[in-house]
Amino acid sequence: MATIEFIQELIKNPERLNNVVDEAKELAFHHGIISRIHETSNSSEVVTYAPFTLFPSLMPKAIFLQALEVQTHYNTLVDKISRDQDFLEEALAGTIQVDDFTAKLFGIYRQVQKKGQTQSIVVGLNRSDYMLDHMEDGTSSLKQVEINTIAAAAFGVSDCLPMVHRHILKSVGLLEESNCVPDRNNTFGMCAVLAKAWELYGRQSAVILFLVGNDDQMSKLNHRMMEEQLWNRNIPVICRTFEDVSRRGSLDNKICFIDGREVAVVYYRYGYMPDNYTEQSWDARLLMERSLAVKCPDIGTHLAGTKKIQQVLAKPGVLERFFPDQPQIVDQIRATFTGLYSLDMGIEGDQTVAMALANPTDFILKPQREGGGNNYYGEDIVQVLQEVKSDKRRAAYILMDRIHPRIDQNILLRRGFPIKLISVCYEIGVYGAYVRHGEEMVLNEVVGHVLRSKSIEHNEAGVTGGISAYDSPLCI
Ligand code: ADP
Ligand code: MG
Repeated sequence: MATIEFIQELIKNPERLNNVVDEAKELAFHHGIISRIHETSNSSEVVTYAPFTLFPSLMPKAIFLQALEVQTHYNTLVDKISRDQDFLEEALAGTIQVDDFTAKLFGIYRQVQKKGQTQSIVVGLNRSDYMLDHMEDGTSSLKQVEINTIAAAAFGVSDCLPMVHRHILKSVGLLEESNCVPDRNNTFGMCAVLAKAWELYGRQSAVILFLVGNDDQMSKLNHRMMEEQLWNRNIPVICRTFEDVSRRGSLDNKICFIDGREVAVVYYRYGYMPDNYTEQSWDARLLMERSLAVKCPDIGTHLAGTKKIQQVLAKPGVLERFFPDQPQIVDQIRATFTGLYSLDMGIEGDQTVAMALANPTDFILKPQREGGGNNYYGEDIVQVLQEVKSDKRRAAYILMDRIHPRIDQNILLRRGFPIKLISVCYEIGVYGAYVRHGEEMVLNEVVGHVLRSKSIEHNEAGVTGGISAYDSPLCI
């Protein structure tokens, strides 16, 4: 196994390197690993390859398997939290006093709980993200960055990347390595679970509604791949925005209708950021939440994915609440936690403030936000904490240990970027999916994985934001 040395050799031969790069890009086109371009993101006339790494990244096989193996337990955990009103109330009490977005979500949760859940079928599609924390002795350990329980993305156009990577490895003579890049079939797996929920709803003519944003053109290709999978099963799919639902959606005996179509499943690809909502959108969300339609995710599952919940789960004894008498599962999940600290008012929160101010570069300060670009690093942590440390505003945040991943060398292929060897690190995301019907878990699956690499000069990640590139693990 000598990919690093090999890449270093390759870079010394520009002609050979350019040939390999061209080959990779052409294969990417062949496998639909494409992206709209930012200048004309509404148009299909000119597209490019989606950003990806020229070579896959080395990953210890045991850690790869560990990430897959813990996923069904994370599915169960998210589902249990979503139904535990007392836990959510207590865990989010400080946060909802000061964070308007979480408070609005929580308001919907309370309203739904008060009237009693209308639909006993629940479908969850999530993605648990990890980095490999690199130890001084050269070993690594799997540490969770966060779990996304709404609009978990990054599958679709990236599904066939392992085929490109295997081909490139073979093409440059790394045959043994080419057998170490695992397959992925994320879109198929995620859609199979949505399809199961639709089937349980039990009405042939009812649709799966993709709740999308108007400004979501970059993700549209991924949505289309899902739509195709569902239509292949003769499941009708429609895409609508919150605005569409607020104008033309209605409830009839709790059945959700839009444009005359009965909605079996609402699949949110949008609605995870404050900016995604107007007052009408909140009303539309409540309407769907109160309806008989199966929600992916329902409001409790959305809240279960907040960073505050992630932090509370890391407190001693909390996992045991959800897995009584199952210490092995507790250990398996807990092994993926890194240090997470409360900033609620009180002694514990005071200690967190002091610790962060003393060594800000060891931590990351996170508000209750999704979608990238919201966290604070280094001196910015000091600035924010100095401002909020003495009052309850600090409860809008959590503090987390900074994970230090191993640094690799790779070439990121991205339109308009130079072909050069840079220092990168990766994050692995594992997709989990489940359907519960009443008390019965009908399906609980680990669907697959995605790897994304970024230059180490960035704190944050994100493919559509222009930082990360799709990658594959080379498991050894
Ligand atoms: P968001 O929900 O906005 O995506 P995340 O918590 O996933 O926020 O953080 C965004 C990015 O910041 C991650 O993808 C990762 O690159 C980086 N990051 C987050 N937490 C850590 C951490 N504890 N250590 C190192 N990097 C982190
Ligand atoms: Mg997130």
